[in-house]
Amino acid sequence: MTTTTPGLVCAHHHLYSELARGMPPPPKVATDFQEILEQVWWRLDRALDLDMLYASARLGALEALESGTTAIVDHNESPNAIEGSLSVLADACAEVGVRLLTAYGISDRNGPDQVKRGLAENERFIKAGGKALVGIHAAFTCTDESLEAAAGLARDLGVGVHIHVCEGIGDIDAPKRLEGLTEDNWLISHCVHLPTDHNLKGTILHNPRSNLNNGVGYANPARFSNPVALGTDGIGANMIESFRLAYVMQRSVDVTVGPDPAWSWLAEGWNIVPEAKNDEVTWSYDPMDPWHIAFTPGIYPLEVKVDGEVVFADGKPTRVDGEEIRAKAREQAKRLHAKL
Ligand SMILES: [Zn+2]
Repeated sequence: MTTTTPGLVCAHHHLYSELARGMPPPPKVATDFQEILEQVWWRLDRALDLDMLYASARLGALEALESGTTAIVDHNESPNAIEGSLSVLADACAEVGVRLLTAYGISDRNGPDQVKRGLAENERFIKAGGKALVGIHAAFTCTDESLEAAAGLARDLGVGVHIHVCEGIGDIDAPKRLEGLTEDNWLISHCVHLPTDHNLKGTILHNPRSNLNNGVGYANPARFSNPVALGTDGIGANMIESFRLAYVMQRSVDVTVGPDPAWSWLAEGWNIVPEAKNDEVTWSYDPMDPWHIAFTPGIYPLEVKVDGEVVFADGKPTRVDGEEIRAKAREQAKRLHAKL
Protein backbone atom coordinates (compact mmCIF):
# COMPACT_ATOMS: atom_id res chain seq x y z
CA MET A 1 0.00 0.00 0.00
CA THR A 2 1.24 3.48 -0.80
CA THR A 3 -0.11 6.94 -0.62
CA THR A 4 0.56 10.30 -2.20
CA THR A 5 1.10 13.93 -1.18
CA PRO A 6 1.86 17.04 -3.24
CA GLY A 7 5.57 17.77 -3.74
CA LEU A 8 7.11 18.99 -0.48
CA VAL A 9 8.63 22.48 -0.19
CA CYS A 10 11.90 23.25 1.56
CA ALA A 11 11.26 26.85 2.57
CA HIS A 12 14.85 27.74 3.53
CA HIS A 13 17.85 26.15 1.84
CA HIS A 14 21.38 27.12 0.83
CA LEU A 15 22.23 25.12 -2.29
CA TYR A 16 25.74 26.61 -2.21
CA SER A 17 26.55 24.68 0.96
CA GLU A 18 26.13 21.11 -0.33
CA LEU A 19 29.87 20.62 -0.83
CA ALA A 20 30.65 21.57 2.78
CA ARG A 21 30.34 18.00 3.99
CA GLY A 22 33.82 16.61 4.65
CA MET A 23 35.47 20.03 4.49
CA PRO A 24 38.66 20.44 6.52
CA PRO A 25 38.05 21.55 10.10
CA PRO A 26 38.47 25.31 10.77
CA PRO A 27 41.86 26.50 12.10
CA LYS A 28 40.34 26.90 15.56
CA VAL A 29 37.26 25.35 17.16
CA ALA A 30 34.33 27.76 16.84
CA THR A 31 32.90 28.53 20.28
CA ASP A 32 29.73 30.39 19.30
CA PHE A 33 27.48 31.11 16.32
CA GLN A 34 29.43 34.18 15.19
CA GLU A 35 32.62 32.10 15.10
CA ILE A 36 30.82 29.30 13.22
CA LEU A 37 29.88 31.86 10.56
CA GLU A 38 33.37 33.35 10.41
CA GLN A 39 35.33 30.12 10.47
CA VAL A 40 33.10 27.77 8.50
CA TRP A 41 30.47 29.39 6.28
CA TRP A 42 32.13 32.69 5.33
CA ARG A 43 35.40 30.94 4.49
CA LEU A 44 33.48 28.42 2.41
CA ASP A 45 31.28 30.88 0.52
CA ARG A 46 34.24 33.15 -0.36
CA ALA A 47 35.98 30.14 -1.99
CA LEU A 48 33.07 29.25 -4.30
CA ASP A 49 33.24 29.71 -8.05
CA LEU A 50 30.42 29.07 -10.53
CA ASP A 51 31.58 25.51 -11.36
CA MET A 52 31.48 24.57 -7.68
CA LEU A 53 28.10 26.26 -7.29
CA TYR A 54 26.66 24.32 -10.22
CA ALA A 55 27.89 20.97 -8.84
CA SER A 56 26.64 21.88 -5.36
CA ALA A 57 23.18 22.87 -6.63
CA ARG A 58 22.77 19.75 -8.78
CA LEU A 59 23.59 17.59 -5.75
CA GLY A 60 21.15 19.58 -3.61
CA ALA A 61 18.41 19.24 -6.23
CA LEU A 62 19.03 15.49 -6.59
CA GLU A 63 18.86 14.98 -2.83
CA ALA A 64 15.64 17.02 -2.73
CA LEU A 65 13.95 14.65 -5.21
CA GLU A 66 15.26 11.66 -3.26
CA SER A 67 13.38 13.12 -0.26
CA GLY A 68 10.12 13.92 -2.09
CA THR A 69 10.87 17.65 -2.15
CA THR A 70 9.99 19.29 -5.47
CA ALA A 71 10.50 22.96 -4.56
CA ILE A 72 13.49 24.66 -2.97
CA VAL A 73 13.41 28.17 -1.54
CA ASP A 74 17.09 29.02 -1.78
CA HIS A 75 19.27 31.77 -0.33
CA ASN A 76 22.58 32.09 -2.16
CA GLU A 77 25.87 33.62 -1.10
CA SER A 78 28.94 33.27 -3.29
CA PRO A 79 30.70 36.64 -2.85
CA ASN A 80 33.45 35.91 -5.37
CA ALA A 81 31.05 34.47 -7.95
CA ILE A 82 28.03 36.78 -7.83
CA GLU A 83 27.28 37.60 -11.47
CA GLY A 84 25.29 34.82 -13.09
CA SER A 85 25.08 32.78 -9.86
CA LEU A 86 21.27 32.74 -9.73
CA SER A 87 21.10 31.49 -13.33
CA VAL A 88 23.59 28.72 -12.51
CA LEU A 89 21.39 27.62 -9.60
CA ALA A 90 18.24 27.79 -11.74
CA ASP A 91 19.85 25.78 -14.55
CA ALA A 92 21.05 23.09 -12.12
CA CYS A 93 17.58 22.69 -10.59
CA ALA A 94 15.80 22.74 -13.97
CA GLU A 95 18.11 20.02 -15.23
CA VAL A 96 17.20 17.72 -12.32
CA GLY A 97 13.51 18.74 -12.41
CA VAL A 98 13.15 20.65 -9.13
CA ARG A 99 11.41 24.01 -8.70
CA LEU A 100 13.56 26.88 -7.40
CA LEU A 101 12.75 30.20 -5.76
CA THR A 102 16.16 31.70 -5.14
CA ALA A 103 17.70 34.99 -3.88
CA TYR A 104 21.18 36.48 -3.73
CA GLY A 105 21.84 37.42 -0.09
CA ILE A 106 23.56 40.81 -0.04
CA SER A 107 25.93 41.65 2.80
CA ASP A 108 28.39 44.42 3.68
CA ARG A 109 30.72 41.90 5.31
CA ASN A 110 32.91 41.88 2.20
CA GLY A 111 32.56 45.58 1.39
CA PRO A 112 29.95 47.85 -0.22
CA ASP A 113 30.85 46.77 -3.76
CA GLN A 114 29.45 43.31 -3.01
CA VAL A 115 26.11 44.86 -2.01
CA LYS A 116 25.80 46.68 -5.33
CA ARG A 117 26.76 43.58 -7.29
CA GLY A 118 24.41 41.37 -5.23
CA LEU A 119 21.47 43.72 -5.75
CA ALA A 120 22.27 43.87 -9.47
CA GLU A 121 22.29 40.05 -9.67
CA ASN A 122 18.85 39.84 -8.01
CA GLU A 123 17.53 42.52 -10.36
CA ARG A 124 19.06 40.98 -13.49
CA PHE A 125 17.70 37.51 -12.73
CA ILE A 126 14.19 38.65 -11.76
CA LYS A 127 13.85 41.04 -14.73
CA ALA A 128 14.88 38.18 -17.05
CA GLY A 129 11.91 36.19 -15.73
CA GLY A 130 13.73 34.18 -13.06
CA LYS A 131 11.86 33.15 -9.92
CA ALA A 132 13.50 34.85 -6.96
CA LEU A 133 13.11 37.15 -4.00
CA VAL A 134 15.63 39.84 -3.18
CA GLY A 135 18.10 38.39 -0.66
CA ILE A 136 19.69 39.98 2.38
CA HIS A 137 22.11 37.95 4.50
CA ALA A 138 21.05 39.52 7.80
CA ALA A 139 20.64 42.95 9.35
CA PHE A 140 23.79 42.54 11.48
CA THR A 141 26.04 42.24 8.40
CA CYS A 142 24.37 45.11 6.53
CA THR A 143 24.28 48.89 6.86
CA ASP A 144 20.91 50.66 7.10
CA GLU A 145 21.46 51.95 3.57
CA SER A 146 21.90 48.39 2.24
CA LEU A 147 18.76 47.17 4.04
CA GLU A 148 16.75 50.06 2.59
CA ALA A 149 18.18 49.52 -0.90
CA ALA A 150 17.24 45.81 -0.87
CA ALA A 151 13.75 46.49 0.49
CA GLY A 152 13.26 49.20 -2.13
CA LEU A 153 14.42 46.97 -4.97
CA ALA A 154 12.05 44.20 -3.83
CA ARG A 155 9.15 46.68 -3.74
CA ASP A 156 10.00 47.93 -7.23
CA LEU A 157 10.21 44.38 -8.60
CA GLY A 158 6.99 43.28 -6.84
CA VAL A 159 8.67 40.48 -4.86
CA GLY A 160 9.47 39.87 -1.20
CA VAL A 161 12.80 39.74 0.62
CA HIS A 162 14.43 36.56 1.96
CA ILE A 163 16.53 37.35 5.05
CA HIS A 164 17.94 35.74 8.23
CA VAL A 165 16.50 37.36 11.37
CA CYS A 166 17.66 36.91 14.97
CA GLU A 167 19.30 33.54 14.33
CA GLY A 168 21.93 34.30 16.99
CA ILE A 169 22.05 36.94 19.73
CA GLY A 170 24.39 39.02 17.53
CA ASP A 171 21.33 39.95 15.43
CA ILE A 172 19.17 41.03 18.35
CA ASP A 173 18.77 44.55 16.89
CA ALA A 174 17.14 43.20 13.69
CA PRO A 175 13.52 44.12 14.63
CA LYS A 176 14.59 47.73 15.24
CA ARG A 177 16.76 47.84 12.11
CA LEU A 178 14.01 46.37 9.91
CA GLU A 179 11.21 48.50 11.36
CA GLY A 180 8.91 49.73 8.59
CA LEU A 181 10.67 47.72 5.88
CA THR A 182 9.13 44.23 6.12
CA GLU A 183 6.03 43.21 4.15
CA ASP A 184 3.78 40.15 4.20
CA ASN A 185 5.68 38.69 1.22
CA TRP A 186 9.00 38.66 3.12
CA LEU A 187 10.54 35.39 4.31
CA ILE A 188 12.26 35.86 7.68
CA SER A 189 14.40 32.89 8.61
CA HIS A 190 15.13 31.45 12.08
CA CYS A 191 13.76 34.18 14.45
CA VAL A 192 15.21 32.24 17.42
CA HIS A 193 15.85 35.43 19.41
CA LEU A 194 12.97 37.46 17.98
CA PRO A 195 10.67 38.70 20.78
CA THR A 196 7.22 37.11 20.70
CA ASP A 197 5.71 40.56 20.47
CA HIS A 198 7.50 42.09 17.51
CA ASN A 199 6.78 44.38 14.59
CA LEU A 200 7.99 42.29 11.64
CA LYS A 201 5.73 41.11 8.82
CA GLY A 202 6.37 38.02 6.72
CA THR A 203 6.52 34.24 6.98
CA ILE A 204 8.85 32.87 9.65
CA LEU A 205 11.08 30.06 8.38
CA HIS A 206 11.83 27.50 11.11
CA ASN A 207 14.98 25.35 10.78
CA PRO A 208 15.08 23.01 13.77
CA ARG A 209 18.07 20.87 12.75
CA SER A 210 20.26 23.85 11.93
CA ASN A 211 19.34 25.64 15.16
CA LEU A 212 20.27 22.55 17.17
CA ASN A 213 23.49 22.12 15.19
CA ASN A 214 24.55 25.72 15.82
CA GLY A 215 23.49 25.70 19.48
CA VAL A 216 21.56 28.96 19.02
CA GLY A 217 18.45 27.86 20.95
CA TYR A 218 14.84 26.98 20.11
CA ALA A 219 12.75 29.47 18.13
CA ASN A 220 9.46 28.05 19.48
CA PRO A 221 7.64 29.32 16.39
CA ALA A 222 4.20 28.46 17.83
CA ARG A 223 4.49 31.68 19.87
CA PHE A 224 4.31 33.92 16.77
CA SER A 225 1.20 35.17 14.98
CA ASN A 226 3.07 35.21 11.60
CA PRO A 227 2.71 32.22 9.26
CA VAL A 228 5.47 29.62 9.88
CA ALA A 229 7.11 27.38 7.25
CA LEU A 230 9.84 24.75 7.55
CA GLY A 231 13.33 24.74 6.07
CA THR A 232 16.62 22.91 6.46
CA ASP A 233 19.06 25.86 6.27
CA GLY A 234 21.22 23.92 3.81
CA ILE A 235 21.41 20.53 5.51
CA GLY A 236 19.75 18.62 2.64
CA ALA A 237 16.07 19.04 1.78
CA ASN A 238 14.45 16.15 3.64
CA MET A 239 11.24 17.79 4.82
CA ILE A 240 9.84 14.67 6.47
CA GLU A 241 12.91 14.76 8.71
CA SER A 242 12.46 18.51 9.29
CA PHE A 243 8.83 17.92 10.25
CA ARG A 244 9.79 15.18 12.74
CA LEU A 245 12.44 17.42 14.31
CA ALA A 246 10.06 20.40 14.45
CA TYR A 247 7.53 18.18 16.23
CA VAL A 248 9.88 16.77 18.87
CA MET A 249 11.49 20.18 19.47
CA GLN A 250 8.02 21.55 20.17
CA ARG A 251 7.32 18.60 22.47
CA SER A 252 10.50 19.46 24.37
CA VAL A 253 8.83 22.68 25.60
CA ASP A 254 5.16 21.54 25.53
CA VAL A 255 4.51 17.85 26.09
CA THR A 256 0.77 18.30 25.42
CA VAL A 257 1.24 19.21 21.77
CA GLY A 258 0.55 16.83 18.85
CA PRO A 259 2.22 16.74 15.42
CA ASP A 260 -0.48 18.80 13.68
CA PRO A 261 1.16 22.24 14.24
CA ALA A 262 4.49 20.98 12.84
CA TRP A 263 2.63 19.49 9.86
CA SER A 264 0.85 22.83 9.28
CA TRP A 265 4.32 24.49 9.12
CA LEU A 266 5.36 21.99 6.47
CA ALA A 267 2.11 22.68 4.58
CA GLU A 268 2.77 26.46 4.73
CA GLY A 269 5.45 25.86 2.09
CA TRP A 270 2.63 25.46 -0.43
CA ASN A 271 1.69 29.11 0.14
CA ILE A 272 5.27 30.13 -0.76
CA VAL A 273 5.56 27.87 -3.85
CA PRO A 274 1.93 27.02 -4.76
CA GLU A 275 3.08 25.25 -7.97
CA ALA A 276 4.40 22.39 -5.83
CA LYS A 277 0.74 21.43 -5.29
CA ASN A 278 0.73 20.34 -8.96
CA ASP A 279 3.43 17.80 -8.10
CA GLU A 280 2.79 14.34 -6.71
CA VAL A 281 4.90 12.14 -4.50
CA THR A 282 4.04 8.48 -4.01
CA TRP A 283 5.44 7.36 -0.67
CA SER A 284 6.59 4.01 0.70
CA TYR A 285 4.14 4.33 3.60
CA ASP A 286 0.39 4.53 4.08
CA PRO A 287 -1.20 6.56 5.55
CA MET A 288 0.82 9.79 5.16
CA ASP A 289 -0.82 11.19 8.27
CA PRO A 290 1.13 13.43 10.71
CA TRP A 291 0.54 11.05 13.64
CA HIS A 292 1.97 8.15 11.63
CA ILE A 293 4.84 10.03 9.98
CA ALA A 294 6.06 11.49 13.28
CA PHE A 295 6.75 7.99 14.60
CA THR A 296 7.58 5.97 11.49
CA PRO A 297 11.24 5.92 10.48
CA GLY A 298 12.49 5.38 6.95
CA ILE A 299 9.60 6.74 4.87
CA TYR A 300 10.86 7.47 1.35
CA PRO A 301 9.40 8.42 -2.05
CA LEU A 302 8.76 5.68 -4.62
CA GLU A 303 7.89 8.10 -7.41
CA VAL A 304 7.94 11.87 -7.86
CA LYS A 305 6.00 13.74 -10.54
CA VAL A 306 6.53 17.43 -11.30
CA ASP A 307 3.71 18.92 -13.37
CA GLY A 308 2.74 15.40 -14.44
CA GLU A 309 6.26 14.36 -15.53
CA VAL A 310 7.91 11.50 -13.64
CA VAL A 311 11.26 12.93 -12.51
CA PHE A 312 12.11 10.24 -9.96
CA ALA A 313 11.25 6.52 -9.96
CA ASP A 314 12.74 3.25 -8.68
CA GLY A 315 15.19 5.13 -6.45
CA LYS A 316 16.63 7.15 -9.35
CA PRO A 317 16.17 10.51 -11.05
CA THR A 318 14.80 10.09 -14.59
CA ARG A 319 16.21 13.24 -16.25
CA VAL A 320 19.78 13.03 -15.02
CA ASP A 321 22.37 10.45 -14.01
CA GLY A 322 22.56 10.56 -10.21
CA GLU A 323 25.96 8.84 -10.12
CA GLU A 324 27.41 11.44 -12.49
CA ILE A 325 26.04 14.26 -10.31
CA ARG A 326 27.65 12.72 -7.23
CA ALA A 327 30.96 12.16 -9.02
CA LYS A 328 31.06 15.80 -10.23
CA ALA A 329 30.14 16.99 -6.74
CA ARG A 330 33.06 15.02 -5.28
CA GLU A 331 35.43 16.53 -7.87
CA GLN A 332 34.30 20.10 -7.18
CA ALA A 333 34.30 19.49 -3.41
CA LYS A 334 37.96 18.49 -3.68
CA ARG A 335 38.75 21.77 -5.48
CA LEU A 336 36.75 23.74 -2.93
CA HIS A 337 38.29 22.08 0.12
CA ALA A 338 41.80 22.64 -1.29
CA LYS A 339 41.09 26.39 -1.35
CA LEU A 340 40.10 26.55 2.33
ZN1 LIG B 1 20.11 30.15 6.31
